[in-house]
Amino acid sequence: MSDNLERIKTLIIGSGPAGYTAAIYASRADLKPVMYTGLEPGGQLTTTTEVDNFPGYADGVDGPKMMMDLQKQAERFGTEVRMGMVTEVEFSDKVGGIHKACVDNSKWVEAETIIISTGATAKYLGLPSEQRLRGGGVSACAVCDGFFYKGQDVAIVGGGDTAAEEATYLANICNKVTMLVRGDQMRASKAMQHRVTSTKNIDLRYNTEVDEVIGEQVVEGLRMLNKETGEKEQIDITGLFIAIGHKPNTDIFKGKLTMDDTGYLMTEGKSTKTNIPGVFASGDAQDKIYRQAVTAAGTGCMAALDAERYLAVVESEEGEEVKTTKKVEA
Ligand code: NDP
Repeated sequence: MSDNLERIKTLIIGSGPAGYTAAIYASRADLKPVMYTGLEPGGQLTTTTEVDNFPGYADGVDGPKMMMDLQKQAERFGTEVRMGMVTEVEFSDKVGGIHKACVDNSKWVEAETIIISTGATAKYLGLPSEQRLRGGGVSACAVCDGFFYKGQDVAIVGGGDTAAEEATYLANICNKVTMLVRGDQMRASKAMQHRVTSTKNIDLRYNTEVDEVIGEQVVEGLRMLNKETGEKEQIDITGLFIAIGHKPNTDIFKGKLTMDDTGYLMTEGKSTKTNIPGVFASGDAQDKIYRQAVTAAGTGCMAALDAERYLAVVESEEGEEVKTTKKVEA
């Protein structure tokens, strides 16, 4: 790689709440951050309509509007936001080493520190009726959207911890929750299963899949298929929640950063440090438990503070080295 590559002090990969919060803190600390937004600028929240649970927005806020506000706030302190997808990385494993990132398979940049905030993508079933009604009653986040279905009948798909947790969350708000588990058992922990089975207004259906989501503009019902009997049944619902897992957007880091067996980046203790010095991970790319905008923002802040401390140590060590060399020369 040639000497005339652009050298960035702090490179932020991804533009969700974690990335923008990291950018706000990093730019205020004079780390001169440059952010590459990825293919979905603003991240998962741009696919949500109203965000009601982010502190500070008393009347709620439109997901895309909130992300634009975060971008403006980051730019106010000097963050440079660039459209582009980081497609490849080369990390140095030395403290103070220079990392490299390739943007859109064409342009390489160098970075002293990198903050990863590439997020995760919710999995969907892939049915045409489900895809058509995304944002019209089909949601992948009960905590974000459940409130809009207060007192109504809804359904949830999935049998893992997320589905179990979200089903009980919805049961508190909604009139009735029909839960569709595709196999003959749930994958969720026993404790979570117990919470589901002991909640009166959850109607748990094993061996059941979605056959079709009913409704033109908004969800009006659900046709279910019992795989054992082959019977189809239609119920009236206004909301359908898909909780069949998320995929962290970490493919480009495979073999380069430590991750768990589902691809979530591993961080050290209560920090955002990855196994590579100067590379920090924040947001949903490293969090499979909470996955909220506010928790992502919190870890974005942590990543910027970790990057600032890392650079301070590197710079002071470099200063010490220069002083020592000068003494030897004298
Ligand atoms: P999981 O991968 O654990 O579960 C996914 C569920 O969705 C499974 O029941 C699976 O069925 C089902 N599923 C997958 N694809 C389809 C499909 N096409 N149609 C119907 N059903 C489908 O994902 P989770 O998001 O639940 O959990 C991810 C990780 O996060 C887990 O390790 C979990 O323990 C953890 N977690 C922990 C929490 C906590 O500790 N509070 C809260 C939330 C998550 P099948 O079993 O048949 O494959």
